[in-house]
Amino acid sequence: MRVRVAINGFGTIGKRVADAVALQDDMELVGVSKTRPNHEALLAVRKGYPLYVPEDRVEAFEAAGIKVAGTLEDMLGQAEVVVDATPGGIGAKYKPLYERHGVKQVFQGGEKAHVAELSFNTMCNYEDALGRRSLRVVSCNTTGLLRIICSLHRALGVKAVRAIIVRRGADPKENKRGPINSIVLNPPKLPSHHGEDVKTVLPWLDIMTAAVAVPTTLMHVHFLNIRLSKPASKEQILSVLEEAPRIVLASSSKAGIQSTAELVEYARDLGRPRYDLPELVVWEDSVTVSGNELMLFQAVHQESIVVPENIDAIRAVAKLESDPSKTIEKTDKTLGLKRGWLN
Ligand code: NAD
Repeated sequence: MRVRVAINGFGTIGKRVADAVALQDDMELVGVSKTRPNHEALLAVRKGYPLYVPEDRVEAFEAAGIKVAGTLEDMLGQAEVVVDATPGGIGAKYKPLYERHGVKQVFQGGEKAHVAELSFNTMCNYEDALGRRSLRVVSCNTTGLLRIICSLHRALGVKAVRAIIVRRGADPKENKRGPINSIVLNPPKLPSHHGEDVKTVLPWLDIMTAAVAVPTTLMHVHFLNIRLSKPASKEQILSVLEEAPRIVLASSSKAGIQSTAELVEYARDLGRPRYDLPELVVWEDSVTVSGNELMLFQAVHQESIVVPENIDAIRAVAKLESDPSKTIEKTDKTLGLKRGWLN
């Protein structure tokens, strides 16, 4: 059975999810939708993705020489699941339209948690997501935090997390965001919202986060301090992380990787599309354990980390696969994700 999937919003996240859907043998991409006739709309046409637009925008697209397949409503009429990848807060406005068309919904982390029945991360709550009408794939930073917390929790137990998040100032394509030459407390008030967002998936967790935004577009970096349920050794932590899906270990001493610039270069050398690195990267050298206290650095490629979780979310709402390890295996194989060591 192939589930019919539509993507509303074909920007940073939407175009990556569309490419990932097109690679799945249990999904059919019925189309993508955009509001503005720009280079991303041209890309959709070039890739052969049927392009749908709001009814009042058809003329604008045609005036720009971009042929459209129909209206947004036409697209929703053919879909069983819609992935909403519109800018934060816009998805909630579309929800009544999605409901009218009887399509299941996968929203992104820029939406408030109540937009969907459940905030989602494959490693943490896949079984709970099965057959739901709507899910919200949490943001890039929250996805990075949840991947490591749930992997460690399953193996060793996690009691509390304190994290400092160093956020990229903008995505590479953005030319109106910053900072350009500053480190901005983001927000100045503590804690930052990221911990609360983790709790939308793990309400029992004692977590507090702080964040600053810096002048880079490549990736986010997190410093984590995790209190485990019992004392562990560095070797135990590394063996859990080596086995964990969607987490890779980078080494400064062995591979000479100690920055996001080198990670991005590595992804470019691998020939990854758009230099994407959907895996969470943990620096092995930074993994430090004292009794039951664990500290480490990790990096998050904000543009791509949520893509595998979007694919799993589609599988969960459509009940295509009930076993989380099987959807992880299928998604990761089709997307070429690594686990273990970056080398
Ligand atoms: P984006 O601006 O790159 O893309 C948004 C797309 O939606 C564009 O194609 C735009 O033309 C279209 N759009 C704008 N207004 C629309 C409307 N009213 N109706 C339909 N389409 C509209 O945004 P993005 O970075 O892909 O973010 C999408 C969602 O993903 C947000 O919730 C965001 O918080 C979340 N997210 C973003 C990142 C990231 O780093 N970029 C990471 C994780 C999650």
